[in-house]
Amino acid sequence: MDLFAVFSDFLGSPIFRLLANLFFLFLMMLWVSLVYWTYRDAKKRGAFAFYWAVVVLFFNVFGWIIYLIVRPPEFLDEVKDRELDIKTKEALLGTTSTVCPACFKPIEGDFLICPYCMKKLKKPCPSCGRPLKMGWTVCPYCRTSL
Ligand SMILES: [Zn+2]
Ligand SMILES: [Zn+2]
Repeated sequence: MDLFAVFSDFLGSPIFRLLANLFFLFLMMLWVSLVYWTYRDAKKRGAFAFYWAVVVLFFNVFGWIIYLIVRPPEFLDEVKDRELDIKTKEALLGTTSTVCPACFKPIEGDFLICPYCMKKLKKPCPSCGRPLKMGWTVCPYCRTSL
């Protein structure tokens, strides 16, 4: 009785086949749950959920690792909460209660032109694109001379 014969006997045995099937089933379940988990996680973070689910479906664990690296760092709900928080603070400070100097309709501080009467309110910085007041000679955000 040699070792190889024992081994091949084992490979052909119903127990091994059962174990192999179970292992295969386990891998499939792991795969499916990875796809599902990625889809749910991407949706919560506002990423392309369907796209990432497909990536994980095709590349399995490798796609999943890539997703973990490039996924948005925070949940959409948290971002919304923070934006709401900022808006509340701005409202308290009164920064949102600006009006257009030409038509007196409500505008926001970073508008480049008035959406009602098209009056130019600010100019975009040629370097960083932030809204600058008309009279400024230097961008206070990136120090570009205008
Ligand atoms: Zn206006
Ligand atoms: Zn700038």
